[in-house]
Amino acid sequence: MFKAPAKYVWMDGEIVPWENATVHVFAHGLHYGTGVFEGIRAYSMKDEVFVFRLQDHLQRMMDSAKIYSLPLPYNRDEMCDAVLSLVKKNDFHSSLYIRPIAFRGLGGISLDARNVPVSVSIIAYPFQKYFDPGKSGLDICVSTWRRLGEPAVPAMAKACGHYINSVLARSEASEAGFDEALFLNKDGNVCEGTGENIFIVKDGLISTPSLASDILKGITRQTIIELIEDDHLRLAERVVTRAELYSCDEAFFTGTAAEVAPILSIDRKPVGNGKPGPVTLRLGKEYEAIVTGTNQRYLKHLTPVYGTRQHDLLAARLQE
Ligand code: PMP
Repeated sequence: MFKAPAKYVWMDGEIVPWENATVHVFAHGLHYGTGVFEGIRAYSMKDEVFVFRLQDHLQRMMDSAKIYSLPLPYNRDEMCDAVLSLVKKNDFHSSLYIRPIAFRGLGGISLDARNVPVSVSIIAYPFQKYFDPGKSGLDICVSTWRRLGEPAVPAMAKACGHYINSVLARSEASEAGFDEALFLNKDGNVCEGTGENIFIVKDGLISTPSLASDILKGITRQTIIELIEDDHLRLAERVVTRAELYSCDEAFFTGTAAEVAPILSIDRKPVGNGKPGPVTLRLGKEYEAIVTGTNQRYLKHLTPVYGTRQHDLLAARLQE
């Protein structure tokens, strides 16, 4: 039996007990994946919980909805408030995963979905590591499946139906004994993981597939790009070929759930010496400092749930 990870769920403007947060089996989104969603993390620090890049995530949800012509009954700031009120109502004080979702509900199964009403929910629950914390990195494979994208669907939208593609690749990888799959795009170039963006390092140059490579515009990717620029490291957003993957010095995934995850091997070929490399370790540490509030420059990305000011967190951190 599935055990409820939270007491309350936010549903269409109300906070309801977990067991009442149900949807009819005739919901349009269940049949066709007609919805958009987000994945957000919150980190616990002392008595406070800080949500990481809350507004940026909900802005991306607004953008995904616009791309799919899904009329959302709440704006970005109302959704941000709803997230905070849900975490408070659950009285969470641990690190969390937060999942806002909007989908077409009850209104028939016509593929002309324009008149099917849109429902919005938010679920939040305690969450620690996405990948096995007992391993120093990931052994991954290149998927036999290609990443979906233009001109069939807009990969930049975080849409529910798109994830059937990720489920195929991730299940195939797990069955073959890998930790994660890496997609190539329709052109055969490097794209992204099933829920992560990828970076490679070769001779000091850090490269990541550009937005034109059918990737999701990851918010962790964006944070890492900012860090790379701050650190005056060399970065290229460009086409990355499969051969470059096998010959790089370092590779790592980035994602809200995955954070910065070193890649140790690709298709059983070791990346570099098969251990997390120096650039990966440095960016991983810097990312951790950002999300845990020890980097003053990035405090703007942390939204407190219970009202602690960001600079009070920093002061407390510096005293540790
Ligand atoms: N690509 C895909 C397909 C994803 O699902 C995710 C997770 N949202 C990412 C990349 C990473 O994006 P973010 O850093 O915003 O979590």
